[in-house]
Amino acid sequence: MASMKAVTFAEFGAPSVLKPTMIERPAPGPDDVLVRIHAAGVCYHDVLSRGGKIPGSKPGRVLGHEIAGEIAETGADVPADRKGERVVIYQRLYCGQCRYCLSGRQDLCRNSRVLGESGGGGYAEFTCVPARNAVRIPDGVDMTAAALAVCPVGTSVRAALGVAQVEPGQTVLITGAGGGLGLHQIQVVKSVNAHAIAVTSSEDKAEIVKQAGADEVIVSPDLKFSGEVWRRTGKQGVDVVLENVVTDTFGESLRSTAQNAIVVVLGNIGGKRVEIDPGLVIVRRIRISGSGNATYKDVEIALHLLATGAVKPFIGAVLPFPRASEGHAMMEQRAVVGRVVLQGW
Ligand SMILES: [Zn+2]
Ligand SMILES: [Zn+2]
Repeated sequence: MASMKAVTFAEFGAPSVLKPTMIERPAPGPDDVLVRIHAAGVCYHDVLSRGGKIPGSKPGRVLGHEIAGEIAETGADVPADRKGERVVIYQRLYCGQCRYCLSGRQDLCRNSRVLGESGGGGYAEFTCVPARNAVRIPDGVDMTAAALAVCPVGTSVRAALGVAQVEPGQTVLITGAGGGLGLHQIQVVKSVNAHAIAVTSSEDKAEIVKQAGADEVIVSPDLKFSGEVWRRTGKQGVDVVLENVVTDTFGESLRSTAQNAIVVVLGNIGGKRVEIDPGLVIVRRIRISGSGNATYKDVEIALHLLATGAVKPFIGAVLPFPRASEGHAMMEQRAVVGRVVLQGW
């Protein structure tokens, strides 16, 4: 039985539980491909998962759902000429048979699992996934950048262009703008010539948010930003809010809206309940919508935006796989701006 290098954890705990080891190398079933992993992004989801904060998850797994690599082997029923193809992995394993999957909304499948929650994770030399999950990377996008095409870039495309359907000329408010999602959302919003107002609680993040292309930056340490939004929009408010924070910001986000605005909920930083003022929601006809994940179409758009340079991935650190624990520690301590990417052994 062939083996491979991987990073796993025997118990939930601090970043140091992540250890390089040897595990069994998966073999592709008839409809699968074996992918030699080139790069894997470290998502905050992985940090929560390692700490035992994702319901139903168990230790002893290979984490990671932001994966790019090259097809090393094809299953018996997969076209053999896909061998050698550069691919990014669609992050969810879905049933393919429910009404959501059949309508092209695999992101809504109730029977889906995230890679890294039950096998197939990215902190390893290889992963084995259904061939339909391996999406070709266009020429001109390097694999390190492509590792972010599904999450966080695809997630940003879903929220901004899928759920909010941002149009040229609209004004979009982005909370938590200096975070991994926010920095990519700003660029996605700018790719369709909308006006991006970024909110960040820290002066340190203002510069990077500006670099990402925000038209205006509001630094708001006390998170009371709606008055400033109101002033800057000539008392019109914003057409769209991309809410990456929610805890302690949601009320201000609702107060920042124009008539018939859409507020997209992506973040749950504090994991706490928030209050809404029904009168405000009714009078302004505010639409509140959740978002997460990405469809295949969103991934195609994300890859296109990366290929044309409209979106540049924010990568704060590249570490070899055996140093995954350091990457997790950096994320927990907020010691890095942009994604940590694992690459090389
Ligand atoms: Zn992710
Ligand atoms: Zn399904």
